[in-house]
Amino acid sequence: MSSTEFEIVIGLEVHVQLKTKSKVFAHAAYHYGAEPNTLIDPVVLALPGALPVLNKAALTQAVRYGLLVGAEIPPVSKWDRKNYFYPDSPKNYQLSQKDFPITMGGEVEIELPGPARNIMGEHKVIRLHHAHLEEDVGKLSHATGGSLVDYNRAGAPLLEIVTEPDLRSADEAVALLNAIRMLLISAGIADCDMEKGQMRCDANVSVRPKGQKELNTRTEMKNLNSISGVKNAIEYEARRQIREVEAGRTIQQETRGWNAETGRTYTLRTKEDAHDYRYFPDPDLMPVKVSEEEKAQLKATLPERPYDRQRRYMEVFNLPFTVTSVFVPDRPLCEYFEAAVSEYPANSLGIANLIANDLLRDLAASGKASVDMFGEADASTVTAASLADCPIKPAQLAGLVKLTDEGVISKQQAKDVFTEMFSTGKDASVIVDEKGLRQSNDTGEIESIIKEVLAQPTSAKSIAEFKAGNEKALNALKGPVMKASKGKANPKLVDEIIRKLLG
Ligand code: ADP
Ligand code: MG
Repeated sequence: MSSTEFEIVIGLEVHVQLKTKSKVFAHAAYHYGAEPNTLIDPVVLALPGALPVLNKAALTQAVRYGLLVGAEIPPVSKWDRKNYFYPDSPKNYQLSQKDFPITMGGEVEIELPGPARNIMGEHKVIRLHHAHLEEDVGKLSHATGGSLVDYNRAGAPLLEIVTEPDLRSADEAVALLNAIRMLLISAGIADCDMEKGQMRCDANVSVRPKGQKELNTRTEMKNLNSISGVKNAIEYEARRQIREVEAGRTIQQETRGWNAETGRTYTLRTKEDAHDYRYFPDPDLMPVKVSEEEKAQLKATLPERPYDRQRRYMEVFNLPFTVTSVFVPDRPLCEYFEAAVSEYPANSLGIANLIANDLLRDLAASGKASVDMFGEADASTVTAASLADCPIKPAQLAGLVKLTDEGVISKQQAKDVFTEMFSTGKDASVIVDEKGLRQSNDTGEIESIIKEVLAQPTSAKSIAEFKAGNEKALNALKGPVMKASKGKANPKLVDEIIRKLLG
């Protein structure tokens, strides 16, 4: 029966590298891109007698994550050894947490893909199962003639975030990664750069007839390390399972790999040869206790969550969804915007538009910002990498909007002033004075220019038309007036005075 409609069910296990200076159980530093095997010490290499000590910073980041997603932080969490033999781990086990993880539950709000997202951003809440802290392992590169191992990454702090099976499409899975990434970056918990391996994920996928409540057997795709990998692997795997079911076969629970070259998933290991990690409690590390007081202190260090901020911008500042989508993934940009608005609260939309259009364009063009497209499914995360050395400070940007609103310069002139501000870092008012751009509000002067223009024979036709009720004829008169004033006459005054003179 091929008319059955299937629903895809997905749960993700997201591995995120926490932002800390040193490794999770060792003093060795950790950062990306160092010479191979330079970020090591006796603990990382598991030399005899070397003992692990928990890095407080890693714990702090994990707890901050938990508080950010509204998870429970159990009063005690414990460490386990996950045993396996493979050269990426120098000690033949990985320190992890099995039964007492650092956070339980919580939820993440995702923005649903689809046409609605461009209008208002429809959201869905994905429940989280738990998150545990563990150490990363080394990196193998397989070359001809042998394999090479780099232990720099071994011992880097990893948080594994496990979702409930609440996701219903590959796009929702991508949206979840995007939402986690925004949350963690905005709180300084992790950088989540997938290209640097700072965010990776395993995807568990099953299919079931629409309407069925029970979950069907799932497969797990390991080590998806790009957005397109996550999306394509899930889409392929769901189609494969539907084909199998429609052909009357059953789905085997198994671990699968993703081959980006062939665009297919393939069996890594089935239930029969499943790993038995023989987890047991680690005797070297003390259980972790997190007090209510510590939680309260850490809670105070957390920023507003991105989608909460987005709602606030739409409600309080009346910003359109499209503009908020540009700001919200980028906390520094939001802070820039809010700093500018606090200088000139009267026109937050004008400030927002100037930032979203002109400022980001010029920052990108000058190489001061990177336009970071987070995967195909989310084109709205344009982020300014750094606003610290932006030549226009928030107060200066607000100053430009204010000058324009007050009619000191025209909107057209504001564009030129902006360009000049960006290249010189000067205040708008200074540039306006230096260039003699200040709009003329001198009614006497404007009136005499208008009188001259109206007296010209070429104006007669437009005057007659305007008097006959043709509003548009007024524009034909305003043009020469603006030209005669070298663009300085305040257009609003020009309009008023012409109307007055023509009765
Ligand atoms: P394990 O303990 O084997 O890792 P879990 O039950 O903890 O398995 O689930 C791991 C991940 O798989 C979670 O993200 C969960 O939501 C997801 N998952 C579990 N069952 C299914 C299913 N039938 N279909 C899709 N995802 C599932
Ligand atoms: Mg698992």
